[in-house]
Amino acid sequence: MRLPFRPLTYFWMIAALAWAGVLFMQGQAPQPDGAGVERGRLPVRWTSGGPRCMEQPDWQVHEYNQDFYILRESGCVHYEKPFLYLIFGQDKVVLMDTGAGTTELASTVDGIIAKWLQRKKRSSIKFMVMHSHGHRDHVARDSQFNNKAAVEFVPAEIPAVQKAFGIKQWPIDIGALELGGRTLDVIPIPGHHPVAVALYDRRTAVLMTGDNVYPGRLYIGEWRAFVDSTKRLADFTRSRLVSHVLGCHIEQTDTPFLEFPIGSIFQPSEHVLELSRGDLIELNQVMQENKTEPKRIALRSMTIYPTNEAVWQELRKVREQTETKQRETQFAQPLSTGTAPR
Ligand SMILES: [Zn+2]
Ligand SMILES: [Zn+2]
Repeated sequence: MRLPFRPLTYFWMIAALAWAGVLFMQGQAPQPDGAGVERGRLPVRWTSGGPRCMEQPDWQVHEYNQDFYILRESGCVHYEKPFLYLIFGQDKVVLMDTGAGTTELASTVDGIIAKWLQRKKRSSIKFMVMHSHGHRDHVARDSQFNNKAAVEFVPAEIPAVQKAFGIKQWPIDIGALELGGRTLDVIPIPGHHPVAVALYDRRTAVLMTGDNVYPGRLYIGEWRAFVDSTKRLADFTRSRLVSHVLGCHIEQTDTPFLEFPIGSIFQPSEHVLELSRGDLIELNQVMQENKTEPKRIALRSMTIYPTNEAVWQELRKVREQTETKQRETQFAQPLSTGTAPR
């Protein structure tokens, strides 16, 4: 059958397609039907550390949904309080980062995997350990995993990361991690650290950004690389939905523009972990406006924080003072009759 030529019909068809294209290009979805994004739930607040450390587990485990877990190390055991991610596909589960200090991690992770297998009535799943980047508060317990035959271990080194995720040209190409029925895009983002990647989970539309983007101080060692990485990351989200931008720390209070001092182990009234694609776009815009000159700039939920040796020395001093003061008094917090402040 031949369609009769009706210019107006074609006009509206083309207009509708163009409109759908515009929506897609802007990382937005038509009418609220959930957009095909797998749902999950984040806590209203996380536990930071203290005041009553004896009550708190070293790892707070949060089930975002039945195949996606977030672990937070307690401030009681390490002031960095990093977040780790454990994501299950049908064939493989991946752990991003191994935490800070000397906190036992493997037994907690093994416990979650065992419960997941029990729930799914299965006996085994492949296990990979990789890293958001190579700073020591993200690789500290590598030794609990890297010599186990059953663990596919990807060290935080550029050639290993390229090989594991099929990234041809570092840092401009995007790689992939296949977990079975679940693909994570792997986006190189050097700047905070030379070997840094973001993960984008296509199922939940969660973008995990390591220490490059999180509610806190974004320490930047290589300014130009960070400018370029932030742009590539923002460009990556232009044609994708982003449910949450999840980093690896919280250092921001719930008061806009206000941070906790470095070294804080107990952070009552802290910012939530999640940021949005809007925050990433704002960060990119500010980086583009300041691409030639490193500058400390406070945004509503993040602080852009260029570093050099002098800055690190100052940070170390403040960290020691804050931590020493808090550790001396953390067990003497006044008792409340209600729930512990968080
Ligand atoms: Zn870092
Ligand atoms: Zn970190």
